[in-house]
Amino acid sequence: MSSRTAPAIATTLKHAIITGARPGPTLLISAGVHGDEYEGMAAIRRLRRQIAPDLLSGRLILVPVVNEGAFRRNARTAEDGLDLARTCPGDAGGTETQRVASEITRLIGAADYYIDLHSGGLSMRTLPLCGYALHRDPEILAEQRRMAAAFGSPLVWGTTPTLDGRTLSAARDARVPAIYAEWGGSGTCDPEGVDAYVRGCRAVMHRLGMLPAQPDAPPAPRWIIEDDRPGSGFMQICHPSPIDGMFEATVALGDRVARGQRLGTVFDELGTQEHPILASEGGMVTVVHSLAHVRNGEGMVVVIDVDGASR
Ligand SMILES: [Zn+2]
Repeated sequence: MSSRTAPAIATTLKHAIITGARPGPTLLISAGVHGDEYEGMAAIRRLRRQIAPDLLSGRLILVPVVNEGAFRRNARTAEDGLDLARTCPGDAGGTETQRVASEITRLIGAADYYIDLHSGGLSMRTLPLCGYALHRDPEILAEQRRMAAAFGSPLVWGTTPTLDGRTLSAARDARVPAIYAEWGGSGTCDPEGVDAYVRGCRAVMHRLGMLPAQPDAPPAPRWIIEDDRPGSGFMQICHPSPIDGMFEATVALGDRVARGQRLGTVFDELGTQEHPILASEGGMVTVVHSLAHVRNGEGMVVVIDVDGASR
């Protein structure tokens, strides 16, 4: 998939291009698809300083903040309220988010490989994980599995390829092997997460033949889970709150829970309404809504069946 004469890149997104001394593939790394997810933005800033062209084979395109409108608002979405990760491939003549979606879709199509860095944002916290869509093309799927394993997150999560609107959906349609990653959240920029993202990206670049072996290569993943059920990987709908209110979690990230176990409770302001949130399956608590205020329909907790109990 390497391209000896890589096409020129023209985009309105703020970006940096590092062109290696030797030919090789074009890798796109992006962060800030959601404006309140900071570890990836900081990691890309650091990669830009670290990657020396004389050590690089191929071309690295870095977009630290895809969704500038959302970043300026310190929010998941820009002014128009559209979730960029539900808007791809977008519309060059549409609203702000639709235009950005169109730009990032075009950029993904110009790459040979793609890494998209996320976090839990202001309202969620997640355990470190690296995911991909279970692409119907076995060669693309195999490449994505290799990239995700190299990235070094303890949890690797392959999920349904049928979700639309995401950057990974754009990559799926353009047949560009792609992975995404999650780390932390709650509006922080965890230095440990930034380190892990930098290490992970460099390890994938080594895997793709773009960099020499990395001295700080991350360990192999601890759990590799593939789940092809409809809706798998759609974290924002897991264990939804039935009302606008306040969530009190009774589990923590990394806890093992059984099906039917209480994950937490949503209350209204006076506590006259009390809605237990019960685990729909057993597994490891991987994402928790860390912001106390919750909206009707928002996902509270993601449980991933790392032990294979329900498969
Ligand atoms: Zn995100």
